[in-house]
Amino acid sequence: MQSQQRPASNDGPGKSSVGWRNLFEDMREGFFVAEAVRDASGRMVDFRYIEVNPAFEAITEVRVTDAVGHTGSQTIAGLPQQVIDIFRDVVETAQPTEFEIQVAALGNRWFEARARSLGDDLFSVLFLDITARKKALAKLVQSEERFRLLADASPHMLWIADLDGTAEYFNRAWDQYTGIDHRREHARDVVGKYIHPDDRAITLARFGQALKTFKPFEVEHRIRSAQGDYRWFLVRAEPYFDPLTGRPVRWYGSSVDIHDSKLAHDALRESQEALRTADRRKDEFLATLAHELRNPLAPLRNGLHIARLLVPADSRVQRTVQMMDRQLTHLVRLVDDLMDVGRVTSGKLALQRRPVSLRTVLADSLEATRAAIEAHEHQVVVDAGDGDLKILGDADRLTQVLVNLLTNSVKYTPRGGRIGIRLGRQDEHAVLSIEDNGIGIPPENLSDVFQLFSQVRVHQCLAEGGLGIGLALVRSLVALHGGTVEAHSEGPGRGSVFTVRLPLNKEATLES
Ligand code: ADP
Repeated sequence: MQSQQRPASNDGPGKSSVGWRNLFEDMREGFFVAEAVRDASGRMVDFRYIEVNPAFEAITEVRVTDAVGHTGSQTIAGLPQQVIDIFRDVVETAQPTEFEIQVAALGNRWFEARARSLGDDLFSVLFLDITARKKALAKLVQSEERFRLLADASPHMLWIADLDGTAEYFNRAWDQYTGIDHRREHARDVVGKYIHPDDRAITLARFGQALKTFKPFEVEHRIRSAQGDYRWFLVRAEPYFDPLTGRPVRWYGSSVDIHDSKLAHDALRESQEALRTADRRKDEFLATLAHELRNPLAPLRNGLHIARLLVPADSRVQRTVQMMDRQLTHLVRLVDDLMDVGRVTSGKLALQRRPVSLRTVLADSLEATRAAIEAHEHQVVVDAGDGDLKILGDADRLTQVLVNLLTNSVKYTPRGGRIGIRLGRQDEHAVLSIEDNGIGIPPENLSDVFQLFSQVRVHQCLAEGGLGIGLALVRSLVALHGGTVEAHSEGPGRGSVFTVRLPLNKEATLES
């Protein structure tokens, strides 16, 4: 026993042995002194307990009295032979030993034991139940194993890095991508070795910033593959804080391959940019075209006016001049629409807002389209109720809206058709609808007709010229007035209805 080997203390042997006795009684470790039991040939085949401490009883659940004087195999049925073999070695070699063993006979518990020879076939054993520690360790190993399995199953590159950015761990995806076995070759300078030279600065900057703030961070960079080419990755990392100190200790991160989507996205952005440029050029071209076309029209109109006055009425030339005047009016309208489209797309179209009577707007629009309506022999039915509806708006622009809608009804309704106009009120809105019994609009085109330059293909034979901008202008002008416009049709040959809603203005209504 250790107590026997230690020199006596100054307190005298009596007090010292009481002290050792107390220690022996109080210690948590199980402790016993035993002697070798030998067979006839002198071989140690068992051992006999000579002395055991209370912890022995607590740990083994064998009472002290059942142990002392009895052999190991009597006391613990099924005591592993391995235990007796170890004790024999200790007795015979006089070498102390330490071992761990799982004992089925003691509820499969694990023990850690230290045995030492005391001479004269005597030996002592200090032992401890380490089942809980073993289980915790097993759990740790299991969770580590789980983490590795999960990490290696991921197609994304996962990593753990020190605070200074030195990589501590990479999963299998990293090894496969870079072609490096990180378990053998530790990738210290990841930024210098694998990140594209052009992306190193941003990566270091983000990392540096994150190291100061310890906030999660993101960066996109290219990483070199085993084949030597680079692919784009999105990196995201979170700091891990030591639960005891609360200090950040390392980074947990993932690098996800975004190469294909990034290239597709970049290509899309470039083509969108190219489209925008082309669209801008087209707008600029149309604006210039409209302007250039408009300039010669005024002198032409003046010339025709003079010719009308000079040429005798009812002459062939007069009729020709009148025809030219009609065509010129049409041309002026087209060019004006084109100019307005330019103004709308560039946001330069401004309204001259005043209280406007919708009855007046309606009358002016009918007057402006009278000639065309008569030429097509359409019948127009107006239902405008009794009172007037006033809104705050631009009378000329509202007339333009109605003229465009009426002109369409005239154009897209076969000769001798019927055009119904209704002006009414719904809550805080004036509602104006123009209905015709013309060629109608196929359902698949209904949502497109307000788009700039959109025309229903099958209508082209009836279009009598047109650029497909009338309805786009209508929508923009109505929107500038805070209103909406909708198209409805039951289908080809079933006529169309265009409904305009404009917010009524209280002040304008009161002024009337
Ligand atoms: P367009 O100059 O071609 O008339 P719009 O922008 O005024 O251009 O109209 C767009 C298209 O909507 C027309 O080409 C025509 O196909 C269709 N559309 C417009 N109004 C009517 C209507 N009243 N009846 C049938 N189709 C119409």
